[in-house]
Amino acid sequence: MESPTGLTSAIPPGSAAPAADLCPRCGEPAGAIPPVASATLGGRSVFRCSRCGTRSARSAAGLEMIFTCGSCGLPFAADRILPHTDHLCPDCREGIVPESLPDAHLSAATEGEIRAALATRWRFVTSPGVSEYLDRIARQVALRIEGAPRDVRVVLVDDRRLRTLALPSGTLLISLGAVEFLEDEAELAFLLGHEIAHAASEDAAVRMTRIGQQAAARGGSPTGREGWAGAALDLVRLGYGRKRERDADLRAVEALLALRYEPYSALRFLARLGAAIGRGDPSAAEIATAHPPAEDRIRRIEKSLYGRVRDDLVPRVNREVFRRAAGRGILSASVAPVSLAETWAEAPDESPAPRRGRGRRLALAALLVALLGLAGLAILFLAR
Ligand SMILES: [Zn+2]
Ligand SMILES: [Zn+2]
Ligand SMILES: [Zn+2]
Repeated sequence: MESPTGLTSAIPPGSAAPAADLCPRCGEPAGAIPPVASATLGGRSVFRCSRCGTRSARSAAGLEMIFTCGSCGLPFAADRILPHTDHLCPDCREGIVPESLPDAHLSAATEGEIRAALATRWRFVTSPGVSEYLDRIARQVALRIEGAPRDVRVVLVDDRRLRTLALPSGTLLISLGAVEFLEDEAELAFLLGHEIAHAASEDAAVRMTRIGQQAAARGGSPTGREGWAGAALDLVRLGYGRKRERDADLRAVEALLALRYEPYSALRFLARLGAAIGRGDPSAAEIATAHPPAEDRIRRIEKSLYGRVRDDLVPRVNREVFRRAAGRGILSASVAPVSLAETWAEAPDESPAPRRGRGRRLALAALLVALLGLAGLAILFLAR
């Protein structure tokens, strides 16, 4: 399918994977949901087994299983089942990748590249009342997630698909389709909490910096816009691997409990998502490939909630509040384009009170340019 962003995102909607595609682990036929193309995996189409959750992609040699490197987070293909202790990409296996987390400057410079690349692909929008509301809920949730970036904010993406991506600085890119899929504020808090947890765990920072290193190692020159855009879209399409996705779910549920939201909202959201995936809704293809099967997520959350929800507390769902603030009619009526750079200029700000002075933005833009220069040097250094 040719997306509005110009990237080929998946096999045409509605056309199922070829009948020959059986899960290489359990033999289940590929479901109705279209596979998604991965830039990191050379443009190959990836699908996830709805039964056992294994992902696979076709290569010249046949179907290969896709694993997520336990060290650097990159997806990689293997022609056999790997034991859990052995989920390492070829580079990490050979010890090529440094184990430490990327430093703040490199991470910021990488995010700058990702933002610039995404700005050429995605249309970012804002909606005065809605964006304020989303930011407020995101900030409340972030306060309940340890290690969350200080300055979380939501930027809407004009896209009907269910797409979410947390940038390391705390900018949460959420598609209009994802907001429209939600039914109440507790579900919103879960969705935001899951993304904030990825940012808090530095999943995105590690993975993005790793992609930059890999590009530098390949050609000795920093990867171009295409490369960065593909890398960012891979985060949306392939996620961070089962373990990190499950952790993000559980941290989001903890935040719901702490904020006295009804945690079962998360389960209702996931059940609807599972149903959309089951009927092959192409707008759910990426979220389906990026995350473990909905049933698996529901089971784990139920387990974590067992015996913890007190009957004497009346938890909040805030359905009406949500509908009035970000309901479908309101969202579609009021969006206006916004530049992603605009939201970034304030992101590295250390002061808690956001200020919007022009001079300050210019100074921060200059700082960003300097950081990008630093990253270029770092990449050149790494390439030697
Ligand atoms: Zn399977
Ligand atoms: Zn690795
Ligand atoms: Zn996730």
